[in-house]
Amino acid sequence: MIIKYLIIHCSATRADKPFSTEALIATGMARFGQVSYHYYIRRDGTVVPTLPEDVRGVHAKGYNSCSLGICYEGGLDTQGHPADTRTEAQKASMLALLQKLMAKYPTARIIGHNELPNVAKACPCFMASKYYAALSLTPQRSSCDF
Ligand SMILES: [Zn+2]
Repeated sequence: MIIKYLIIHCSATRADKPFSTEALIATGMARFGQVSYHYYIRRDGTVVPTLPEDVRGVHAKGYNSCSLGICYEGGLDTQGHPADTRTEAQKASMLALLQKLMAKYPTARIIGHNELPNVAKACPCFMASKYYAALSLTPQRSSCDF
C-alpha cells in the first residue's frame, strides 16, 4: 500500500464523555466488519495502534487504499456541537505521531477528513492541512480507490 495521505479524524464523541478504544473498535466492527482507523489518540495523549499500517482501513471513502486513518477521541463539545476538543496532550501526541509517519512516508500529505471532496461532515473539526502545513505539502486530493 502506497501511503499518499495521513487522514485526520475525530471520534465525533463529546469531550466530557470518555470513548474507549474498545468502543471505537466495536463501532468499526459493527459498521464495516473491521477496525476503521490505524491510530487512536486518547484524551490523555495515549496513542493506540488499532490497525497495522499495511492493512487497509475504512475511514475515508475513495481514499482507503492509499491512506492511514488517525482518529482523536472527541470532536464534539459538551453540548454536542463540532469543536476542536483536542487536549494539549492529544495535540502533542498527534504532532509526534505525524512527524514519525512523515519520516516513514515522506511523500504523504496530511489532510482532514472534511477536506476531502464530497464529505459533508465537520470531522476532525479543525483544518488539519493548515494546522500541519509545516509538516507536509498541500494535499492534491486525488482518489485512489478503484
Ligand atoms: Zn472522519
